[in-house]
Amino acid sequence: MAGATLTIDLGAIVENWRRLAERAGGGKRCSAVVKADAYGLGMARVAPALAAAGCETFFVAHTEEALALKAICPDAAIHMLNGPGTPEEAGDLAEAGVVPVLNSPGQIALWRKTAMHSDRSRPASVHVDTGMSRLGLSPREWQSLRDDADKLSGIDWRLIMSHYACADTPAHPLNDLQFRRFSEILHTRPPILKDTQPSLCNSAGLFLPHGGPGLARPGIALYGGNPVPGKANPMRPTVRLSARILQLREIDHPETVGYGATFQAPGKRRVATVPLGYADGVLRAAAPGAKAMIGECTVPVIGRVSMDLMTLDVTDAGQGAQPGAEVAFLNASIGIDDLAEAAGTIGYEILTGLGDRMTRVYVGGP
Ligand SMILES: *Cc1c(COP(=O)(O)O)cnc(C)c1O
Repeated sequence: MAGATLTIDLGAIVENWRRLAERAGGGKRCSAVVKADAYGLGMARVAPALAAAGCETFFVAHTEEALALKAICPDAAIHMLNGPGTPEEAGDLAEAGVVPVLNSPGQIALWRKTAMHSDRSRPASVHVDTGMSRLGLSPREWQSLRDDADKLSGIDWRLIMSHYACADTPAHPLNDLQFRRFSEILHTRPPILKDTQPSLCNSAGLFLPHGGPGLARPGIALYGGNPVPGKANPMRPTVRLSARILQLREIDHPETVGYGATFQAPGKRRVATVPLGYADGVLRAAAPGAKAMIGECTVPVIGRVSMDLMTLDVTDAGQGAQPGAEVAFLNASIGIDDLAEAAGTIGYEILTGLGDRMTRVYVGGP
């Protein structure tokens, strides 16, 4: 008996990009963030589908990801968010034509040195921190570079960017503060950055009242995550996670189910066992709370999630629950945010955690 199947709808991912591009003001103003193997869904399949739909700019986190993407989409503009750490890494990026995002005076100096060793100025982007305190130039570093703009010379600047910390909480005051700080940065930038395109919005940022200028950088919304938590999800679901029933049994009070005997049958129950577990990325913390579907019937996960198996109370599914019947854990009705909520986490962690052991099927590709 095979394990679980993850079906990834490339057409839905492309449709989500189109919706986001429309919000951003057109395809030229909307990139795609494909770091962490396109949030676990497979950069090698996702990026070409988006490129074929007109997406020209991609973001990854690491040099290895950038070089891999360059080999797949040689014509795309590929930005590497973490920036180079060593001269060798900078050399590799420059040679491949990847655009590093420079996050510190040290990275800027390193990239200028790399550019000086070649015959042309090298493209790069700069990240200025406006309230995240994670990556990017601190306000003081930005001020000192602004006052000594020679230190920015010799680089072909592509983007001047910042990143929202709380865009998924629209009422958070940090959103306005970051927007105002970023506007101030754009307003007071030195001449060498005058024509550089700004970039501020992640998925949720695009849905804030004031959004942000320039190029949008959506990630999670491309993959079906809800960019407006608490409201109806404007994105299409992109994944279906399913497994087939391995075994069925009837139990009666006072029998228990699974490790730790955490579930006790309140009476006669039908229990189905499916070959999907935390080794596949369905977090152990998802039970109790997670739901699945057999046909149109919703059934609860019961007992603990184990490494390779899960158990469900399929009493209500009647004859639909048979060995070999399909159980869906993610589908058009159960989104990544629903499964995440059951596990006390976010859709990002669910997607990036989906394991390699399951069979992957791509549909809707170009
Ligand atoms: C990951 C990331 C994004 C994408 O964020 P989502 O919330 O997935 O849309 C955008 N910008 C930066 C700098 C990131 O690190």
